[in-house]
Amino acid sequence: MNIHEYQAKELFKKYQIPIPDGGVAFNVDCAVSIAGELSGFPVIVKAQIHAGGRGKAGGVKLANNLSDVKKIAKDMLGMTLVTNQTGPNGKKVSKILIESGVNIDKELYLSILPDRASAKIVLMASLAGGMDIETVAEETPEKIVKVYVDPLSGIQAFQLRQLAFGLELPSPLMRQFSTMVRNLYDLFVMNDCSLLEINPLIITTDERIMAIDAKINLDDNALFRQKEILEYRDVDEEDPLEVEASKYQLNYIKMDGNIGNMVNGAGLAMATMDMIKQAGAEPANFLDVGGGANAEQVENAFRIMLSDQNVKGILINIFGGILRCDVLATGVVEASRKVGLSLPVVVRMEGTNVDEGRKILEDSGLNLITATDLADAAQKVAQMAQA
Ligand code: GDP
Ligand code: MN
Repeated sequence: MNIHEYQAKELFKKYQIPIPDGGVAFNVDCAVSIAGELSGFPVIVKAQIHAGGRGKAGGVKLANNLSDVKKIAKDMLGMTLVTNQTGPNGKKVSKILIESGVNIDKELYLSILPDRASAKIVLMASLAGGMDIETVAEETPEKIVKVYVDPLSGIQAFQLRQLAFGLELPSPLMRQFSTMVRNLYDLFVMNDCSLLEINPLIITTDERIMAIDAKINLDDNALFRQKEILEYRDVDEEDPLEVEASKYQLNYIKMDGNIGNMVNGAGLAMATMDMIKQAGAEPANFLDVGGGANAEQVENAFRIMLSDQNVKGILINIFGGILRCDVLATGVVEASRKVGLSLPVVVRMEGTNVDEGRKILEDSGLNLITATDLADAAQKVAQMAQA
């Protein structure tokens, strides 16, 4: 799960990470009143969307007085912001963060994430922070310092020094920096983050360290024990079909192709997507209905896939274990009737009650095509979608 910058900064505040004063506004009046309560000008107005790259796209603006704030807030609220991370359709701005401007001496980069290869938590830091960190990572990766923290022993003093040396921090800032990194590490672990990124982490002209941007992603699989964090969920920022799917405990990810596929089990879903590609077509989604899906879930999954306008054909690939083939077939038939199905649907199923399942499909009178095996299924659906 992603959260907004202003929410990440609330967490920062809780963990004593220095950030500029400010607050979030949902309308112009509120923006002006927040700005009026800050210590002076300039004030920074920042679009709150689940994507970075805002600075270069006009989503971060500086205001020198209250009427500036008013004008910027008016323009920004309701605008569609297209950044290099939003995709071509952009994201609608419905919240803005109003913050005290700070005088920047240096822009640094700091992030924390799990490293699968070493099974450790990696902290990355770079002197070359700011809006072009992706270029730095690509062209001059040696400018990024990495330390790998063993989650059992936690972060060590020598590792804090390694980061500080990498950032060429002046020694008077060392203590502040160490405290901040320890707190960030605690925040990361305590809240089950999958990414914490500060870009830029700045040194102000009066020699203070401060986070002026904040990005946090959370591990979805840990949200059950992060009730407070779950309050931060903003469904307006998520794909509407993915939100719908999550209501029925379906694992659905929208993709760019035109073959919808419904599968039980994540591994089988991955394999099915490979087969679709191999047949020369592109999957429109990942959809795992889970091992124990019922007819209602199958019906919802089917409806969600069909409401994606790109979908030109559907492949259902189920191995009937706990989810029996007759239950699946019933769900498919009911859903097809309800939505007035007009797309080709290829069904490949095997396993428990497969004969009953096939009979239900045949007796339905619907135009459902059964496939002999997975390769056959992928071929059939790819051909039909092209035709
Ligand atoms: P992003 O582009 O979405 O990552 O948004 P950021 O929050 O990183 O802001 C982009 C850039 O705006 C930063 O790299 C800074 O250079 C600049 N910026 C943001 N806040 C301030 C501020 O308070 N003072 C100054 N001088 N610049 C700021
Ligand atoms: Mn940034």
